[in-house]
Amino acid sequence: MKVLVTGATGRTGSLALKKLRAVDGISAYGFARSEEKAKDLLGSAENFYFGSISDRNSINEAMNDCDALVILTSAQPQVTPPPAPGAPPGCSFEPGGTPEEVDYQGQLNQIDAAKAAGVQHIVLVGSMGGTNENHPLNLFGKILIWKRKAEQYLIDSGIDYTIIRAGGLIDEPGGRSLLVGKNDEMLANPPTEGGTVIPREDVAEVVVQAIQHMEARNKALDVIANASEVKDANDFKALFEKASAGL
Ligand code: NAP
Repeated sequence: MKVLVTGATGRTGSLALKKLRAVDGISAYGFARSEEKAKDLLGSAENFYFGSISDRNSINEAMNDCDALVILTSAQPQVTPPPAPGAPPGCSFEPGGTPEEVDYQGQLNQIDAAKAAGVQHIVLVGSMGGTNENHPLNLFGKILIWKRKAEQYLIDSGIDYTIIRAGGLIDEPGGRSLLVGKNDEMLANPPTEGGTVIPREDVAEVVVQAIQHMEARNKALDVIANASEVKDANDFKALFEKASAGL
């Protein structure tokens, strides 16, 4: 099975690519902008495609013969301190890097290219909080609103989807027991004392498991990690069975 990971030089994308490469029967390829960064993070630029998600030609080439696509691209807000006391923080994006361009149009480009190439399954990593248009993250170019529009586009595409909406990402070791929910209910009523966070390594593991479990197909789920309990093995079949279809 050939799997393409976009955003493969990102913090979660690089972890997902490494994990997928360790699975028997999966040939995992990365899609990224910088060959130098790929070499630094993955040790080599082998089995990488280079381009931009705003350039359909470069995506089309990467999508050839792919069975599954993992979307781990994201706009990257550069947050600056509030310009005045009590004001919201400032924020800027690199040219071409706004949420509308990356999280909406860039994701649509990937979904369209995948559909044209006959890709069977798309795993899209997004963020919890998108049910609330006034969520503070929407101060940054309405990022959650654009992500959610792209999630709906994926659902409507007819390709099998798994939408993984992570809680706050942390760079701590993975292997925690995971909790699955929907509609930001875990943000409203946090079920753990450690907050609604999840290590990037665990998000990468959910991606790998979603690729391998039919129970993850056509589901959208919120996921956080239980801070107090560290377990080696989650029952991913049961976690995906708890998730439901639709936004
Ligand atoms: P990240 O490190 O910010 O990675 C984003 C990736 O997107 C980077 O690899 C970047 O490429 C790539 N990218 C951006 N524009 C691109 C373009 N035009 N063409 C190709 N690639 C492009 O991601 P992360 O922090 O691990 O987050 C993973 C996902 O989880 C994101 O969707 C994020 O929004 C979501 N999430 C984040 C949080 C949080 O607490 N931060 C919480 C929940 C969910 P370069 O490597 O070249 O920069």
